[in-house]
Amino acid sequence: MRVTRSTCPYCGVGCGVLIESRGARIVGVRGDPDHPANHGRLCTKGSTLHLSAEPSRQAATRLLQPMLRHDRASPPATTSWDAALDHTAQRLADIVQRHGPQAVGFYVSGQLLTEDYYVLHKLARGLIGTPHIDSNSRLCMSSAVVGYKQTLGADAVPTCYEDLDHADCVFIAGSNTAWAHPVLFRRLDAARARRPSMRVIVVDPRRTDTASVADLHLALQPGTDVMLWHGLLHLMIRHGWIDADYLAAHTQGFAELRALVQDYPPELVAQVCGLQPDDLLTAARWFAGVPDGWPAGVALPRAQRLRTLSLYCQGLNQSSSGTAKNVGLINLHLACGQIGRAGAGPFSLTGQPNAMGGREVGAMATLLSGHRDIANPRDRAEIAALWGLLPGVDLPAQAGLTAVEMFEAAAQGRLKALWIACTNPAQSLPDQTTVRRALRQVEFVVVQEAYATATTCAWADVLLPAATWAEKEGTVTNSERRISRVRAAVPPPAGPLGEGPWPDWRIAAAVGQRLQALLPPRAGGSMFAYATAEEVWNEHRRSTIGRDLDIGGLSYALLEHGPQQWPYPVGAAQGRPRLYEDGRFATADGRARLLALPYESPAEERDERYPYALLTGRLRDQWHGMTRTGTVESLFGHAAEPCVDLHPQDMAEAGLTDGDLVRVRSRRGQIVLPARPSPDVGRRQCFIPMHWGGEYLGGLHADEGLARGVNALTVPATCPRSRQPELKHTAVRIEAA
Ligand code: SF4
Repeated sequence: MRVTRSTCPYCGVGCGVLIESRGARIVGVRGDPDHPANHGRLCTKGSTLHLSAEPSRQAATRLLQPMLRHDRASPPATTSWDAALDHTAQRLADIVQRHGPQAVGFYVSGQLLTEDYYVLHKLARGLIGTPHIDSNSRLCMSSAVVGYKQTLGADAVPTCYEDLDHADCVFIAGSNTAWAHPVLFRRLDAARARRPSMRVIVVDPRRTDTASVADLHLALQPGTDVMLWHGLLHLMIRHGWIDADYLAAHTQGFAELRALVQDYPPELVAQVCGLQPDDLLTAARWFAGVPDGWPAGVALPRAQRLRTLSLYCQGLNQSSSGTAKNVGLINLHLACGQIGRAGAGPFSLTGQPNAMGGREVGAMATLLSGHRDIANPRDRAEIAALWGLLPGVDLPAQAGLTAVEMFEAAAQGRLKALWIACTNPAQSLPDQTTVRRALRQVEFVVVQEAYATATTCAWADVLLPAATWAEKEGTVTNSERRISRVRAAVPPPAGPLGEGPWPDWRIAAAVGQRLQALLPPRAGGSMFAYATAEEVWNEHRRSTIGRDLDIGGLSYALLEHGPQQWPYPVGAAQGRPRLYEDGRFATADGRARLLALPYESPAEERDERYPYALLTGRLRDQWHGMTRTGTVESLFGHAAEPCVDLHPQDMAEAGLTDGDLVRVRSRRGQIVLPARPSPDVGRRQCFIPMHWGGEYLGGLHADEGLARGVNALTVPATCPRSRQPELKHTAVRIEAA
């Protein structure tokens, strides 16, 4: 039996796995005891990975051969790789020639490896010259990115997992860590068992498994987080719990923020958030790190302040106020000096396994490689030189369309081609009516995907089968900036015509080579002459040198000794676990910015016609659209079918009992589900998991018959700063079906 060291492909914890294989068959998976993210632990999803790779399941779900259709009335037909790649390049060249490069959009994924992301980005911006490349990380992390950049100066998580071992207070906001990042939650459990004095505050409208273990659960009204942050800061100022010395030495903007939060007294905040004033005071005191018995009115020196680490995720990010929610929380850390030392700081948890890798290579509408700025001519010139672009050939200078905007533009006919890689927008984006109109409207849809069961496959003009977990080489970066190797344990399965799926980077490079021969010259030599994933990664590494994420000192050879955190410049002996310990931030003047962003209510408020707030989220044992986890029977033991969770009193008032079918209706659509009473959901709120919706119909355009899942309902409103959609608050009504 062969054992291959790799990384779990599910969530941003980034656990190390040992894949056991015999020949071309995966027979088992164990946690890697030497991986610093998990020390051998795996959750239910990670520990059943090998089951999803069993040949019988693969045969039923995998795309094994390129497929192509010349007209949309016909189902796609199996074809050779050469024919599919030639056709893709020819159709894209034709569209670029007729409509210009801006007619092409790329929608990629935080599931891709860094190498895949890098080549797709180079293909889009470098060769075609379209600014329109965005990632499903837009649905995951973009509010955190903008929050970090606007306050601390860089898209860099300043903390690490080890900080859980040093924190006195862990403040979890908008994250059901127990289900979404289970191995990290177990680490929190272990740290708490060692130090029972640790306090845990959970901010979440629902009493989740995470909230149920909190010392203080702030079950706020959905969407009112910014009101809460400002109310806590108001109390910290009133009681003298802020760190005035730290603010004076390392920040700017406090005066304006202080003036703003004067308008957020605890009585108002308690009323709007639906919380008790006493709980607000307790939360403010614990967050600020005030030891029990500390005398009132006596300034608290930094050395005696207890340490607060905040963990946060989609509850903050997926919001029309996503950036303001991130900024407001970071404001609290800065105001109390709760940053830059072990056990203290803001820690945004990445949802997907490589959401951070996509940010590193710049494969998002608003970014450029190596954390560069797309609007900065010098930044563009550096990447143009790295890619060998001809003198005078520039990269697009403006930001591209973000995820929701891209599909709206396609629905309006402004985009003519969509290339969708490793993501399933026909299930996961909000407002599915618009998404499906977009997929019908564009002239040419390329879907690069491992699983035939991804709903979006039904709209593909070309299906390019991708290698998946355990079949390809590359790297991912987890939530704590740690780069781990992903390794091939087995070859991809063979296709009916011979060679089966390819690694994503190789597919993009093969189209790129063909397309480069068809388009007017933009580069001196071949832009895509990569033989291995390592060659791609080495080019990416060069793009980071001198940047905040500098990995010039890393190599694939060094990663053989174990995963490493960035930055890791040439000459470093190890990566840096924690940032800003010297009090100098990544802004031009080294000072962090406190930003005074007022509270704004959710984009679509509840009213008489739509009186419930719909919250969406993950279940413990499923992943995204279930293309992989949905094939493993045991993972349905936790939740066998989708349902809508409602408060028992709301159900009683509506005359509903457990299991009754209800129609959940929003301004955009409706779905029918069984209702389930749950005291963990607040009054006039409901919760529906994100995983169900859509089914593969053999490539036919029977989209009206497809089950659309919860995103038939969700609102396409986005945060004006991050453009992240508001998946955590939609006004709906509930009717007996
Ligand atoms: Fe995989 Fe995340 Fe579970 Fe770790 S916690 S095993 S990375 S799904």
